[in-house]
Amino acid sequence: MLNITSISKGLVIDHIKPGLGLKIFKYLKLDEADFTVALIINAISEKHGRKDIIKIENKIDIDLAMLGFLDPNITVNIIEDEVIIDKINLTLPDTVENIIECKNPRCITAEERDITHKFVLINRDKGLYKCQYCDQIYS
Ligand SMILES: [Zn+2]
Repeated sequence: MLNITSISKGLVIDHIKPGLGLKIFKYLKLDEADFTVALIINAISEKHGRKDIIKIENKIDIDLAMLGFLDPNITVNIIEDEVIIDKINLTLPDTVENIIECKNPRCITAEERDITHKFVLINRDKGLYKCQYCDQIYS
């Protein structure tokens, strides 16, 4: 297996679904980072198949709800002195704001420009969300 330099202090976003790593990398604006970052695509996962990994040599604030929404199977490892001091297992957030937009053309969010796009989780197993305003389902 490819050996990648470990980080001394920062974050490792692990178990990202293959193909999603680049999207998350860009969403976190890591392509503009002035610190060391690594995007590893299609790493072999001990558990099953392949995964993407992002290593960040810096303590940055990341939106865990957003990450959990993109992929609830992600694990975020907090690294201090080259040791994992905390492991955060993500889940689907109960609500998401301004991440997805309602597809209903008659929804108030389609007309009002400054309104918050808010969705509420209605089925955790299926990952179903519904629009706060018009009940349109997002899956
Ligand atoms: Zn709506």
